[in-house]
Amino acid sequence: MLPSFRYHPDPLATGSVVPSDAPCDCCGQRRGFAYAGPVFAVTDPAGALCPWCLADGSAAERYEAQFTEVEGRVPMDVRLEADRRTPGFHGWQQERWLTHCGDAAAFLGRAGAADMKRRPDALADLTAEYGEEFCAALDADGQPTAYLFACLHCDRHLAYADFT
Ligand SMILES: [Zn+2]
Ligand SMILES: [Zn+2]
Repeated sequence: MLPSFRYHPDPLATGSVVPSDAPCDCCGQRRGFAYAGPVFAVTDPAGALCPWCLADGSAAERYEAQFTEVEGRVPMDVRLEADRRTPGFHGWQQERWLTHCGDAAAFLGRAGAADMKRRPDALADLTAEYGEEFCAALDADGQPTAYLFACLHCDRHLAYADFT
């Protein structure tokens, strides 16, 4: 069982955590999983990081690292948990972590056109920003890609899109 991440509920499904036999550079243990997302650190880890060292903040502390950057105004405890104790994800461009209802949103993963059709509220946002043709070309495994989030307080889904 992986540690639970409030803002990234299924990091195995999103590809931010992968099965791995590598020892964690932070705790030295082989936990069977490694973090596969971005690390923004003062001191780069020499090897893999396990999701447990992300969850308990030891990786953030040891490497002066964060794994994403929440945008907008959120309380400091939210920012610390989302930026420093939550697996980030790789985008085509600088990643964004969306917020809603004064809290960081939960990242659900990359989404293609068919996925976005099931989230009409978030699709409406994308269509307003990028247009229908762009949204029809969204591809979870290619580009452009949408990044889907869910608010933890209301029913709203959120998304942004990018490409190289
Ligand atoms: Zn570890
Ligand atoms: Zn909300």
